[in-house]
Amino acid sequence: MLITKATYLISSPSVDKCPKPDRPEYAFIGRSNVGKSSLINLLCNNSKLAKISVTPGKTQLINHYTIESTTEKSNKKTNWYLVDLPGYGYAAASAAERVTWAPMTTALAARASLRGLFLIVDSRRGLLAGDEGLIAWAAAVRCPVHVLLSKTDKLKRAELSRALTLARQALAGRATAQAFSAVDGTGLEEARRQLHQWFQKIKGPGG
Ligand code: GDP
Repeated sequence: MLITKATYLISSPSVDKCPKPDRPEYAFIGRSNVGKSSLINLLCNNSKLAKISVTPGKTQLINHYTIESTTEKSNKKTNWYLVDLPGYGYAAASAAERVTWAPMTTALAARASLRGLFLIVDSRRGLLAGDEGLIAWAAAVRCPVHVLLSKTDKLKRAELSRALTLARQALAGRATAQAFSAVDGTGLEEARRQLHQWFQKIKGPGG
């Protein structure tokens, strides 16, 4: 899977203000500062697409990007939305902001165009209570989740191996997990493969 075009479309304050759900959507969610923007930029091969946060927790908008991608094997183009969801769980955010993702993700799932969720988790902290809530919700609405343990360049090899084992144990088959680093590129291909796998399952518009 190779992204050939990535364009910012719109920022919406709530799901009902989002663009029409007329193509498959893949959403990215995580606590503020986990490296979500860096991942999106790297996947889209555009260092300026998603803003790398200066003040963590400031962005509470749902950002849609229109994406065109191809596979290495065929020239078939796939059109989809990349949805950058607001960061959650930042300590300095208001209580309301901290729980924004719960009603937001529920509303997003109701669109039926949501085909997969990338949950980005800092590999040094692992899965935390709020992440667990999100995973349980996604399982309930049958939305596939792929967890990226980010910033793995900060971990020693043994620490990374332990972090992955712990995450996979906690996920207990409800989501897949991988290592990722925007600094050294670890896991970029694996993340692309995951998207490609999800595309294979698309039967709706845009697929
Ligand atoms: P977001 O708030 O989740 O979108 O996170 P950003 O992508 O804005 O990154 C937050 C901070 O972490 C920035 O200072 C980034 O440069 C840094 N960062 C992002 N990814 C990595 C990574 O893989 N390794 C390291 N060491 N730092 C990273």
